[in-house]
Amino acid sequence: MNIKKAAFCYALSIIMVLFTSCQVMSSTKSIDFFAMDTVISLKISGKQADTALTQTKKEIKRLEGIFSNTIEHSDISMINQNFQADFETIHPETKEILQLSNHLSEETNGCFDITLGNFVKLWGFTEETKRVPSPIELQQAQQHVGNAHLKLADGILLEQQIQLDLGAIAKGYITDQVVNLLQQYDIDSAILSIGGNVSVIGNQQQPFQVGIANPMQPNTLIGSISVSNCAIVTSGDYQRYFEQDGIRYHHILDPKTGYPANQGLSSVTVICESAALADAYATALFVMGLDTGIQFVENHPEIEAIFVTKEGQVKCSTGIDSQFTPHSNVQVIS
Ligand code: ADP
Ligand code: MG
Repeated sequence: MNIKKAAFCYALSIIMVLFTSCQVMSSTKSIDFFAMDTVISLKISGKQADTALTQTKKEIKRLEGIFSNTIEHSDISMINQNFQADFETIHPETKEILQLSNHLSEETNGCFDITLGNFVKLWGFTEETKRVPSPIELQQAQQHVGNAHLKLADGILLEQQIQLDLGAIAKGYITDQVVNLLQQYDIDSAILSIGGNVSVIGNQQQPFQVGIANPMQPNTLIGSISVSNCAIVTSGDYQRYFEQDGIRYHHILDPKTGYPANQGLSSVTVICESAALADAYATALFVMGLDTGIQFVENHPEIEAIFVTKEGQVKCSTGIDSQFTPHSNVQVIS
């Protein structure tokens, strides 16, 4: 299976918008394309659906060109090469996403940390060939990972050798930008899926039913949630991984060790208004684990989460519990 096809199946397997019970809109248009190393599926209803789709695709490609660390002249590639940049020489979106990431790193006690580029490179998650790094390699890289090495004042200053990686927030941030852009058009509703980061917008009478994948069998669901005007983002150990000697190594890393986070969870889905926050928090909560994670969510009324443990048990935060319908045989922890 080639990479694009694999990514396509992967994107479909994460979250599925099951159906919308709204009436058929004046005009519903959709496109699927490949960007940011994943599949983007956009479905827009409304009088200006065609124009909105074209502009949305353009905007996604533009922002990918700014944030990707595998695109040569992107802002992030330039910062990673020079270890510094003035705010005047980078796009305002880069400044914003770096400030937000910096704040989220502090807030999550380093469970979310964009300075872990050296770890990601060692595992080869952004390369064709993936491999298990030696403990020594990880220890050496550890010296060049940590939010304290990223200074944001008049510009960006990185300590030498630090490498930024926006993989856990860029898709969400871009989704938010698209939601803002769509406000310029006459749109009734939209379902945006950027590599499985889903945002649903629209004022239809009935909420959207969004399916949450079962990490044990990602083409089946553990259940569905009933939501409107929000982002639904899942981070899971079944999304990008490789296996060696019977051990699964997935792409959500604990920034304090450099190893795949192993706190007993298989997936975390975050539901909140902002897709950027949902994306970053889903990654951070996965690293925190169930006990710390649920406490964090209950202390942050703006976010809700659904945790799936490695044993397949489901735990919902209090604000989403009544909107979650488990599939049969799924055990929900109260
Ligand atoms: P996905 O990319 O499948 O949506 P995530 O949002 O969880 O999943 O992001 C995982 C990606 O983010 C990894 O591929 C890596 O580039 C980066 N990453 C991994 N662990 C972390 C972390 N703890 N904090 C910040 N970025 C991370
Ligand atoms: Mg994320």
